[in-house]
Amino acid sequence: MEVILAKQAGFCFGVKRATQMAFEAAGKDHKTYTLGPIIHSPQVVGKLASLGIRALDSLEDIEDGTIIIRSHGVEQRDINEAKRKDLNIVDATCPFVKKAQEHVKSLSEAGYGVVVVGDADHPEVQGIVSYGKENVFVVASGEDVKKLPKMNKIGVVAQTTQSFENLKNIVCECLQRGGEIRVYNTICDATAVRQEEAKELAGQVDCMLVIGGFNSANTRRLLEVCAEFQPCTYHIETAAEIDTSWFKDVEKVGITAGASTPKWIIDEVVNKIGKLNKSD
Ligand code: SF4
Repeated sequence: MEVILAKQAGFCFGVKRATQMAFEAAGKDHKTYTLGPIIHSPQVVGKLASLGIRALDSLEDIEDGTIIIRSHGVEQRDINEAKRKDLNIVDATCPFVKKAQEHVKSLSEAGYGVVVVGDADHPEVQGIVSYGKENVFVVASGEDVKKLPKMNKIGVVAQTTQSFENLKNIVCECLQRGGEIRVYNTICDATAVRQEEAKELAGQVDCMLVIGGFNSANTRRLLEVCAEFQPCTYHIETAAEIDTSWFKDVEKVGITAGASTPKWIIDEVVNKIGKLNKSD
């Protein structure tokens, strides 16, 4: 059985940077925390926990120590709270997410109504929105824009993982609702590049494995994209979930992984399939 690993599988730039910063911070201060999981990988979170870094739900319970800000950012009030408590802040917010936060802040200060294209429940979006004043609206589709009030000036910013197509549709709808539109394309192409590559690979193989956290939105999206082209597509978090029956009559297996999947987990999966090959 031939195993083909997608070139762009696994950590993107922002996740790699955040993970490195977290591992570097481990051991420097015996009270080191992250606010929420640092990235959407239970295995990385578990590894950090074994080094003494605990994921907190809020800053309420701590009065001192080091707080690491996760790759997809936090709300402004959390940063303010950390400063007020004089915590040591390790800001691992991905620079692309930070750009989106800064645009919302400057647009809002300049009097624009701000439209954030994204998923209102996603912590990245909640963080981005928190940098604006009162007129900030989250929209997921062009339909949502129709419900917005008329505004003279509209600023548009996107959640980094949005599709360009959706941003374009929403900008078109915004043109009908405001006189002046200023658009910042804050989409990060790491996600799109992974999806395109995964799509291509899924079409060439007989079975496709997508590795990544069950709670990771970008991994689930990869799964959907692959399943469109390859019905035998499976989502696993680790090598332990591999079911050998998936590979019956399979000649080529493709592997990709979400942006928050560490290399060691990808290697374990590749090795396990390699061993299956030998025992054939
Ligand atoms: S997907 Fe893009 S924006 Fe998100 S953490 Fe990775 S590099 Fe940053």
